[in-house]
Amino acid sequence: MIRVGINGYGTIGKRVADAVRDQPDMEVVGVAKTRPNFEAERAVARGYDLYAAIEDRASQFADAGIETAGLVDELVAQSDVVVDATPSGIGAQNKELYEEYDTPALYQGGEDADVADVSFNARGNFDDARNADHVRVVSCNTTGLSRLLAPLREEYGVEKARVTLVRRGGDPGQTSRGPIDDILPNPITLPSHHGPDVNTIFPDLDIDTLGLKVPATLMHMHSVNVTLESEPSADDVRDLLEGESRIFCIPPEFDIDGTGKLKEYAKDLGRPRGDVWENGLWSESVTMEGNDLYLFQAIHQESDVVPENVDAIRAVTDSMDGAESIETTNSALGI
Ligand code: NAD
Repeated sequence: MIRVGINGYGTIGKRVADAVRDQPDMEVVGVAKTRPNFEAERAVARGYDLYAAIEDRASQFADAGIETAGLVDELVAQSDVVVDATPSGIGAQNKELYEEYDTPALYQGGEDADVADVSFNARGNFDDARNADHVRVVSCNTTGLSRLLAPLREEYGVEKARVTLVRRGGDPGQTSRGPIDDILPNPITLPSHHGPDVNTIFPDLDIDTLGLKVPATLMHMHSVNVTLESEPSADDVRDLLEGESRIFCIPPEFDIDGTGKLKEYAKDLGRPRGDVWENGLWSESVTMEGNDLYLFQAIHQESDVVPENVDAIRAVTDSMDGAESIETTNSALGI
């Protein structure tokens, strides 16, 4: 069993903890948080050992009636791998701690790429992360784009990708984020950081990205144009994408007209927290004009990186090859 510690138990961390616990070859050593709140209360209720991430604040947990198992250092010492799911920028600060205990660590997409030896997407570059000590699982949007571009590159070749990302203003729990009533070009300058981030997975890919932010919390939406190096039919492309386990091609007869219904479908499926781990790609939107492919896909920012973190744990421990890991993760989660 691979012993996994999770440092940072928020939106991503709590989902990764549950997904790790569901795997046949992994166990959760514990989770670390800076301060008591409802997520800390739930972590203990779910049976996770809770570690205090900051020594000076450790007594706050006892004051709130929440039992802790020790300090984060002890969690790191006992873990074969640590998943750092702390807020952007904190992961880089924690790197020293992981190095001190010689514990391989995964970081999240909010960190700069240079925090790690390699940026990771299971479908895109699993092997690059084998036995690496520091791996960054790319952001939700980069994950969604990598999953889409990997099969297109392999099957048809990609001359150039152009993607407009309509991004949710904040997660449902992020009450301080916005915009509330606006549409922001964000960033205003081009390209947005997403294109260069996809290049951390596919260095030779020609990709331009534009970002916007809108008053929504459920999911991101990508409007995609990929100029292919060959001219398959739209049906061929649809068949190819339907064969990808982490792309859900939304059938027209489901009458899912947006992210709201897609999330509702995930809840009807009984998915934990209504999570949509796969790209939600509208089958009907897949269109070919010459060698230009067009489509829409939705990305559930809170959960699509979760199976990728699980696969990255197997990559750094070199315990399975990529295809076997993806299959194992999918089968344990119900993807
Ligand atoms: P979050 O704020 O929901 O959770 C972060 C958790 O870390 C909180 O529980 C916080 O209390 C805790 N924390 C803060 N400082 C800490 C420290 N020093 N040590 C240990 N724990 C600490 O954040 P999130 O949305 O889960 O994001 C985590 C990372 O994942 C970021 O890099 C982010 O960019 C990335 N990410 C987020 C999303 C998303 O949409 N939420 C999607 C993909 C990637």
